[in-house]
Amino acid sequence: MPSTPKQSGTGNENEKGVKSNDFLQTIAPEALAENLYKKNIELLTRNKTLSLLRELYEISILTLSPEELAERISNIVRIELGFELVGILMLTRDSSTLIPLALSQSEKVKNTLSKLSCSLEELKIPLSSEIFFTQVIHAGKEKITNNLDEVWKGLINPKKIQKIAEEDHIKTTLVFPLKVENKILGIIFLALNRSYEELSSFEKESVASFINVIALALEKASLYQELKIANEQLRELDLQKDELLGIIAHQLATPISSVRWNLEMMMDGDMGKLSKEQKESIKSLQGITENLSDLVSMILDVSRIQLGRMKVDPQELDLDQFFKEILEVITPKAKEKKIKFNIELPKKFPKAVLDKRYTHMTIENLLSNAVKYTPQGGMIDFEVKIKDRVIFCSVKDTGIGIPKQEQDKIFGKMYRATNVRNTVDGNGFGLYVAKGAIEAQEGKIWFKSIEGKGTTFFVELPLKKVFRKEDKLNKA
Ligand code: ADP
Repeated sequence: MPSTPKQSGTGNENEKGVKSNDFLQTIAPEALAENLYKKNIELLTRNKTLSLLRELYEISILTLSPEELAERISNIVRIELGFELVGILMLTRDSSTLIPLALSQSEKVKNTLSKLSCSLEELKIPLSSEIFFTQVIHAGKEKITNNLDEVWKGLINPKKIQKIAEEDHIKTTLVFPLKVENKILGIIFLALNRSYEELSSFEKESVASFINVIALALEKASLYQELKIANEQLRELDLQKDELLGIIAHQLATPISSVRWNLEMMMDGDMGKLSKEQKESIKSLQGITENLSDLVSMILDVSRIQLGRMKVDPQELDLDQFFKEILEVITPKAKEKKIKFNIELPKKFPKAVLDKRYTHMTIENLLSNAVKYTPQGGMIDFEVKIKDRVIFCSVKDTGIGIPKQEQDKIFGKMYRATNVRNTVDGNGFGLYVAKGAIEAQEGKIWFKSIEGKGTTFFVELPLKKVFRKEDKLNKA
């Protein structure tokens, strides 16, 4: 309503001679009241929009599954904005069909739909059909109508539609596409008991402003869900791969040991006298099969750890003999590289109960790594101490070290540091299995290292613990 300018002799001063707002003075009281009322409504709507947006934002952060998110969004939008029915329909993965993800109905609508045995949850709308909802998808633009029949034609029996319109006084239906960067995810529809014309421009603005937020939240939730599924599939594939690896390694183990056995017989002359050249060649074949056999048992161990099937076999060990065997292999390797190899062992070893194969493999791996990653002329200190029935070993080298930023990955399956990948041969199984083997015996393995200066590995193992064979071990 246009306001009538107020006639005033004093211009911008009121009766008390106090200066007042020109604008207020020129507006009649009724118009002023109406203006204030409108501003109030506008403020209220803006406030409501802001608090709704904040709530939507919070929900989108907290809620992770698309179904849960859609349900909470449709409920909150319906209740806060006083709608009768709010629904979110999403396109299927192949974009062929629209199906409901969430529906929120007022009690009134719920009762009417149930009386009419009309269930919207089961809707399946092929995109090929030319109905109100699919037209919104095809056009990528919202559609608004005061005709309920137009919206639900082809989906609900016309008589039932009429009944819903009458009983629930649904006058307007707004359908918006849910779009993220031009990709249409689905639609949201809002049904209210007022006609569109009755909505203030702020209410219309308010509705439009949260549609994008909803689309983004749903996109985020479905991406998160896809990521979660992909991760689970990857984990499953990784397990299958380990299972397969285990089977292959198992199949290889028998022929390899048969080759080793035959080579040994030949070497012993059981198959006739050998020439010097023949002996040399068999010796080199023995070295190759030895490595192959180590690799196969390492792969078997990796797959056992991964599948949680690693079992320790504790047995009484003569530690003196145990270390002697290891040092017989390592000392010549260190000598070959002109590495000074300092060994400090206890004068007398107590009786020990340990898994021989795993402990042997661990200590030998640490020592052979020290030789492998220490340049010619370096130094290795190997120390073994026993205190309170705990054996403590350290292997210190003056080698290339492990880069600081990679140190937390070094016990990972097949992990090899970047400073060795293209220069020194290896497969990255050793430390992974060593960690599994030591922890399975309730021990600890750790290291400290400075790149370019050297590395020290430490192992601590309780000696007395007796394990049952069927102990199920933790996954590393
Ligand atoms: P591999 O030696 O076959 O690569 P390991 O599992 O035994 O596998 O070791 C994993 C990685 O840890 C190695 O590739 C190397 O990067 C690092 N590493 C292990 N021991 C040492 C060491 N003594 N000095 C430097 N790097 C080491």
